[in-house]
This record gives sequence, C-alpha cells and structure tokens, in this order.
Amino acid sequence: MSDPESGAPQTRLIHTRSERLGRITVNPPLERASTVLFRTEEALYGPKPTYGRMGLTVHRELEAGICALEGARHTRLAGNGLQACALAIASVVGAGGHLLLTDSAYGPTARFCERRLKHMGVEAERFDPRIGAGITAHFRDNTQAIVLESPGSLTFEISDLPAIAEAARPRGIRIIMDNTWGAGLHYQPLALGADISVQALTKYVSGHSDAFGGAACTNDKLIAARIAACSEDWGIALGPDDAWLCLRGLRTLHTRLKAHEAAGLELAQWLESRPEVARVLHPGLPSHPDHALWQRDFTGTNGLFSFILKPFPKQAEARFFGALRLFGMGFSWGGFESLIIPCDEQLTRRADCWTRSKPGQLMRVHAGLEALSDLKADLERGFAALSAG
Ligand SMILES: *Cc1c(COP(=O)(O)O)cnc(C)c1O
Repeated sequence: MSDPESGAPQTRLIHTRSERLGRITVNPPLERASTVLFRTEEALYGPKPTYGRMGLTVHRELEAGICALEGARHTRLAGNGLQACALAIASVVGAGGHLLLTDSAYGPTARFCERRLKHMGVEAERFDPRIGAGITAHFRDNTQAIVLESPGSLTFEISDLPAIAEAARPRGIRIIMDNTWGAGLHYQPLALGADISVQALTKYVSGHSDAFGGAACTNDKLIAARIAACSEDWGIALGPDDAWLCLRGLRTLHTRLKAHEAAGLELAQWLESRPEVARVLHPGLPSHPDHALWQRDFTGTNGLFSFILKPFPKQAEARFFGALRLFGMGFSWGGFESLIIPCDEQLTRRADCWTRSKPGQLMRVHAGLEALSDLKADLERGFAALSAG
C-alpha cells in the first residue's frame, strides 16, 4: 500500500487513524468524559490529557485529520467556528494593537473584532477585500494582524492572499484566513502565506447540519503555543459528540464537496440565464470579477454562492420564499440540504461599498445533494410566484 501521508487528499483524510490502546476499530471510541481516573497519585500529574476538556481519543484523531486537510503541523479545536475565529485572532493581538479586517468578513467575526477586541484595547479597521498589495496603505506601526475571509461568504470577493502576505511578512504582521468556504480541500491558505487558517467545521467538514466545531491551524510553533495558551485560559473545548461527528464527516468530505461543487456551478449558470436575476456572484464563473484570482489560488468551489435579484417589491420576495418546497431558509450551509436566504439584512459593509447600489435583494444559495432537476423546478416555482400578481 502506498504511504497515506503522500496520498491524494481524499486518501489522507481517510487514513489519519492513530494507534490506540487495546482494540483497533475503524472509528475511535466516543469517550463522553469530563473526568479521567488515575491508578496512582504520581500519574495525576503525568502525561496529558488528564481532564476531558483537553480532549480525548476522538479529538486527537480529528486534529490529525484537520492537519492533513489544511497542510498544517498544529491544529487546535474549538466549540464552533466563531470560537475558533476569536481564538485565532486573540492569540496574535494585544492591548494597544491595530487589526485590519476584511470588509466582507462573517458578521459575528466582525462583531468580535469591533466590539470585544475594543474592550481588550485593540482597534479594528476594515479594508476592501479586493485591496491586494494596496493593504500597505493601511499599515500602522502598531498593526498586529490581518483578518481575511476569501471568498467572503455573502458577497464572494476573493482576496489576493499571496500579495497581502508578502506585504505583511517583513513587518511581522500575522495573517488569519477564515477557510470555511475553501474547506481545506479547495484552498490551502497556509501554503499561500497565511499564519493561521481557521475553519468552521460546522459547515462542510461535519456536513450534516447536526454538529458544531471549529479549528485553528498553523505551521508556526510559536503561534501554536499562543493559540494553545489562549484556548486554555478561555476554557475553549469541543464536546466529544460533536468532535466525533466532525471526524465522521471529514472522511467523506472530498466526495460530498465534489457533488456540492457540481450542483452549485450548474445552478449558478442556470440562474445567470434567468430574467429575474441581475447578477450571479460565484467565483467559479468567468463572469465573476475575481475569477482569474480564484483560478490561480483555488482548486475548486462548493455549493455556496449568491445572486442579486432585479428590483422586486417585498411582497413579491415573500411569495418567492413561500413557494419553495425544497430550498429551506436558514442561517448556515455545508449540510446535505439546499438552502436559500435573503442577505441584505446581514450586510454590514462600509457605506461606500458596491452593495449599496445593487438593484435588488442579495440572495445566498447553498446547493445541497438533491437532484438538480428537482432543485431547478423548485426555484422555477419561486420565480413564477415572484413575478405573479
Ligand atoms: C458559519 C461560519 C462561521 C462560524 O461557525 P459556527 O460554527 O457557526 O460558529 C465562521 N466563518 C464562516 C465563514 C462561517 O460561514
């Protein structure tokens, strides 16, 4: 058998099983445990984990799997994606510091930077996600970190990570990339210059809308130690059941992601031809302004993209959502089910951003694993209701 370490991504994600004490099963035992028992007094202060919060067998195997996924040497797990983002960011900033935040960041991450970090004496400043090397104009003497998310999960701009990393590196500014969309398989931020890659495992890794999880990954030993210390101080932990579900999801991530990718691309192309749609925002389409950048840095897409409706009255939009039978309305993605959600309320972009002058509602779609013909028929029902009356 070839070496799992040098195999294709889908091979590596399946073969991260570790040697365990006693019986070896395909999947690790699920240990629901706060308390670990010791036979001797001496062992109490011996090798860790000595307490459930540090994670047990499942957590070690999930960490190994996420390391394989992200091309990372160190992975720290968190209770959810937001917690992993907060952990990663807080690990590389400190009082008196300045943080640069992409304007298309996930809303709760932006809120953490602009509300919580403020209390911790760190000033957050937003920048245009498409700024590239121009980011240097925002650097200050006290700039400590840059928070990126590429593509932004509502508006789908791609950031030029290599250019930003090249500008940041000589100044010791740390780069954190939210890699939930790329999911590790289609984007490798650590190889492209990020210091920390973060994922909400809640999305594609768990893949079934039934668990939470987060991970912060790095190849830098010092940063890994700072993340570990911050995680210990805040008591950050991932529950064993959720860790087990994330590990199970990881094994089939490659196959699912390919199916989501194919469905997403086909739906996006189909939506581009619809008369009700003003614009589709999907980095894999040639019409996307950052398509070339996506082609250079990414190896794939997934089921998540947006489109902008032409102007319709509020009641017409309500009829559209009311007519859908398959697409659910919900604030997440990455599961097996298709979702659609109006996003204007979630946009917290700067006043001068292009989103202010778009014609109609921003709609985000997650293409699930249902048959495409059924999904198109469902959206057709919606569009018929949108234009009726
Ligand atoms: C969902 C999401 C998160 C947060 O993950 P949770 O597990 O829901 O806390 C962070 N970043 C992005 C891009 C997300 O889509």
